[in-house]
Amino acid sequence: MYKLEMHLHTVHNSHCGQEEPCDIARIYANAGYNGIVVTNHFNRTDLFGYVAQQFGSNLDVMSDYLRDYFELKDECAKYGIDVFLGLEAAPDFCTYYKYSPPYGEILVYGITPDLVLKDGYDILNFNKIELYEWAEKNGCLLVVAHPYRSICTELDYRYVHGIEIANLHPKQNSHNDKAERVCRMLGLIPTGGSDFHFKGGEGGGILTKRAPENEKDIVEILRSGDYEVIRS
Ligand SMILES: [Zn+2]
Ligand SMILES: [Zn+2]
Repeated sequence: MYKLEMHLHTVHNSHCGQEEPCDIARIYANAGYNGIVVTNHFNRTDLFGYVAQQFGSNLDVMSDYLRDYFELKDECAKYGIDVFLGLEAAPDFCTYYKYSPPYGEILVYGITPDLVLKDGYDILNFNKIELYEWAEKNGCLLVVAHPYRSICTELDYRYVHGIEIANLHPKQNSHNDKAERVCRMLGLIPTGGSDFHFKGGEGGGILTKRAPENEKDIVEILRSGDYEVIRS
């Protein structure tokens, strides 16, 4: 089986991430992973308040957003671990950093570095329908992250493809049982991930029968249903 992390944060690209790419590579090699999808927070506040400041560059913040992804790819190559891009997106319509709900985050699978550079600013501006239409057009999957954490309000499930039913963040109660019930009831795609922020937080993800070739292939595997979600 191929062990794939589906939800992970790094120190320079998520304000809450604590580990350097080189350390993550070592931790994941020790934990027996074959692949990682990096899903740093993708919202206006993190991007312009944290990411831009981390690198202090005058370059496009979208290129800065990709820095840890590329670094992790290099570091993980030393251990034979594949690294894929993903987002944990909160466009303006559902960001926590505003006065009224909805509040939530959406994992985006199937996105590539080129797509971030091309459409990153649009993604921040999209409403729920525009985001869904964009995902459909670009072969991406939208998966609601930990929908029943206390900070989150329920998003509109008509405009997503899946629900994260096993978020294994050790310091959060994500009410995974409820997420799984709702996912099953609505017939959406179930995923799982560690929501890794610090050493010891690894362990989640999915088990697949074959190695994904690239980001789009992860979408194929999720659509096929031929994988297992790691639940604890
Ligand atoms: Zn975080
Ligand atoms: Zn997360």
